[in-house]
Parts: sequence; C-alpha cells; structure tokens
Amino acid sequence: MTMSFERRDVDGFFIGGAMRPASSTGRVDVVHPANEEIVGSVPKSTADDMAAATAAARQAFDEGPWPHTPPEERAEMLSAIADGLEKRIDELAWLSTAQNGMPITLARQSQGLELLRFYADAAKDVPWEERRQGLSGSGLVRRTPVGVAGLIVPWNAPSLLMNKLPAALMAGCTTVVKPSPETPLDTYVLAEVLQDVGLPPGVVNIVAGDAVVGQHLVDDPAIDKISFTGSTEAGRKIMSRLANRIGRVSLELGGKSASILLDDAPLEAALPITMAGSCLNNGQACIALSRVLAPRSRYDEVVETLAAIVGSLPVGDPFDESTFVGPVLNAKQRDRALSYIEIGRSEGARVVTGGGTVLDRDKGFWVQPTVLADVRNDMRVAQEEIFAAVIAVIPYDGGDEAAVAMANDSPYGLSGAVWSADPQRALDVARRIRTGTITVNGFTYDVGLPFGGFKQSGIGREWGLEGLEAYLEYQTINLPESS
Ligand code: NAD
Repeated sequence: MTMSFERRDVDGFFIGGAMRPASSTGRVDVVHPANEEIVGSVPKSTADDMAAATAAARQAFDEGPWPHTPPEERAEMLSAIADGLEKRIDELAWLSTAQNGMPITLARQSQGLELLRFYADAAKDVPWEERRQGLSGSGLVRRTPVGVAGLIVPWNAPSLLMNKLPAALMAGCTTVVKPSPETPLDTYVLAEVLQDVGLPPGVVNIVAGDAVVGQHLVDDPAIDKISFTGSTEAGRKIMSRLANRIGRVSLELGGKSASILLDDAPLEAALPITMAGSCLNNGQACIALSRVLAPRSRYDEVVETLAAIVGSLPVGDPFDESTFVGPVLNAKQRDRALSYIEIGRSEGARVVTGGGTVLDRDKGFWVQPTVLADVRNDMRVAQEEIFAAVIAVIPYDGGDEAAVAMANDSPYGLSGAVWSADPQRALDVARRIRTGTITVNGFTYDVGLPFGGFKQSGIGREWGLEGLEAYLEYQTINLPESS
C-alpha cells in the first residue's frame, strides 16, 4: 500500500464543537481492504455518546444562533468549509481509499465539495420568506429548518455524507452525523475543518458507530428528521420506528439498475460505459448498472464484447492510479458476492468472465469483475442487489416495450441508462422507466439536478433545490388585512 499519510488512531467524538472523550474504553480498528493492514482506530461508541450528541444538537437548534443566521451567512460558512476541505483533499482521498478500497482516482473526485458550493450558491435564489396572496387574504410563507437532523451514512463513499450535510446546514438545521464504523476516519478531518472555520458549537456533531448506535439516534425524540443512506432492509426498519412520533424521513436505498440496449444501440460506446457504470467503486455503488438488457438478436455480441472488456480490467491496489477495480470492503461483502455468483450458477446463469476471487492475492478481500450470461430477469441475481462488480446480462425478445417492461420489473428504481442510435427513441424509452434518474446514451450524474429513488430505492430527493426541501418545514403566518 502507498502510505503517504500516517496511521490514524483517534480519541473521542466531535460533540458540541469540540472533541469529547468517549464513554467507553473499547476501540474499533479500521482495516484496509486490499491487504488487511490496520490503518487506524476509533473509540467504540455507546448509547451515551449518541445521547450527548443529540442533546448538543438539540440545544444548538433551540438556543443557538444557527437556525436564525441569515442564509447569506450560512452560505459563506458552507463555502469556507469547502475551501477548508479542499486544502486537505489529498489526505481525505487517501483516507477514503485506505478505509474502503475505493480507487484513488475516484476518491479524489468523491469528497462532495461541489455540493457545499452548490448549496452556498443556490441559497440566494431561495425565497426564504415571501409574502403571498391566498384565496381570502395574504400571508408570509417561510421556509424554516426542519429541526435537528440525524444523518446516517454507509461506508461506500464519503460523498454520501455530503449529499446530506450541506443541504441540512443551508436549511438552518443542526445535525448529528453517524458514519459507518468501517469508515469513520475522514469525518475527523471534517470535524477539524468545522472547528477551523468557526461553525457554532453543536451545529454538527459526529459519532461513528454501528447499527445499534444508529438505532439510538433514530429513536431519540430530540431528532426531528432522519436522512438515511444504506440498505433497503435498514431503511424499512428506520421508517417503521419513526412512525411512532411522525418523525420526518428521507431514504436513499439500494438499486438494481438496468443499462437498456435497444436493437440499434451503438455498442462501441454503450458497453465500455456500461462496464464503467457497473464496476464503479468496485461495484459498490447504489447506482451501479448491474443489469444489462440486450435484444436477443444482438445477445451473443453483447455478452462476448462485455466479457472481453470486463475480463481485461486492471484489478489491484486501489492506491495505484491505473487500477480500475480494487477490493470489496471486507470478508462479508466478498462472501456475499461469491455466494450470489453461486446462486446465479445454480439458477442456470453462465459465468463468462470472473466468478471467483483474485487468485494471486492471499490478503485482502477480492471479487473478480464478473459477467453472468443467460440470466433471466426473475433470477435472484437479476432482482437482488449484490454490491460487487457482478453484471447480469439478460436477453429480451420483442421491441422497446419488452425492454421497458423488463427494466421496470424490479423492486428497485434508482438509476439506469438507455442506448439507441436515435436519441429521441431512447428518450421515449427513458420516460417510461420507473427510476429516479436515467441517462440517454451515457451514464452521468449532476449534483445540480435531483437524485433519488422510486419504489424500494427510497423516498425523497438529494441534490438540486429539491435536496434542500428535505430539510425544510413550511410555516405560513396569516397576516391581518391592514398589515
Ligand atoms: P446498511 O444499511 O447496513 O448501513 C448503512 C448505515 O446505517 C450504517 O451507518 C449503519 O451503521 C446504519 N444502520 C444500519 N441499520 C440501522 C438501523 N436499524 N438503525 C440506524 N442505523 C442503522 O448498509 P451498508 O451495507 O453500510 O451500505 C450499503 C447499502 O447502501 C447498499 O444497499 C447500497 O445500495 C446502499 N446505498 C444507497 C445509496 C443511495 O443513494 N441510494 C448510496 C450508497 C449506498
């Protein structure tokens, strides 16, 4: 491993604007997935640490300046945070790769600074308080912060926290951030930057921890809103627990997105980009194009070409700039992916390339980038999220309607791509796909536009002005006629 930064062993949690000692003496090691070396450690959090964080956030909301700070000043603070993080971008990228094996080239682009800048800039166009005419009189319509927001994020990308925190701060919320125990270290850099720029105490509190600690956050009545990114299974549990107190909730969950090749699809562009979309972040991306839908007439050509592209990918050290696919997070993720490949085989799928671990490595957690052919859309490998670079290629018979029906035959609805020599035809198909985002002849994402899931991929939107809405509560003040 390229060690350009030192191992991190940190104490305490960021609560009420300062590092506060942990309530227990337990430690959690952070392991580099490519070689199993320990890259750092953090205290093991408990319910008491989480309670201290939620109390600090509540106090900062009820008594502190942040919810009442003018939006222009909040925007300036967001820009200062972005500048502070940018100065430490190499360190942040190193920490990301060290913790979860994200290829270093991707880690540099995945710190989410553009979201801080987007919301800082967008704030000036938001009518924070507007006088509006109703049916029988006028009123002030105010966009107020939803309150204290609990932000729960998974381990697969640091930008997932930035999909939430900038919008929450811009809205005037105070927050409790709960990173995954596998990837806590970069949030200590964030805490230092927040101290440097002088964010008021308690506006951001950070306690990394496991699902049990996350549940304490969800259950705490001090929390008005939970914004969660993670598995559909955990999202379901969180939503049901919040129902008791009508807690607000946004969910960004799993996916099983399709790259839809129409019968005139330009394969020379479509297949390399589909591969990049499938193997993004070692296949550990909710938006991964993990199903490829190919017309029967071109099926063999698609399978053969995709297998050749995927089979020749550089797999290895995620710190090496030329690596495209690194390791998966841990043994559990590896075993899960390998067991799905076996399930696919037993259901009749054919492994065309990959299918095992990377044989010349005795350390780390590896899954060969894999293409499964002869997959039917009702097989488990086509319906369930695998979360590794495992691509199911599925033939369809019939015209565009058949492709649309197959793409939509999924419990998920997050992302996708549709390919045709005729962009208008592809657009017509895209309009009929039940996913929150989809790209015509490409695979692109833009934080200035809303992102989120249909069906079991989630509720609510991040990014764009819609992402700010997730942290706002509207207040109407009816005014007397004379005012
Ligand atoms: P996970 O659901 O196990 O955990 C996600 C986070 O939630 C972690 O911080 C975990 O500690 C916490 N958590 C788990 N159960 C909880 C509970 N009952 N109460 C409170 N907190 C709880 O998911 P994971 O394995 O860490 O992440 C991978 C999943 O995330 C995949 O399914 C992937 O598709 C999804 N994901 C979705 C998006 C998106 O934007 N839609 C983005 C990235 C990842």
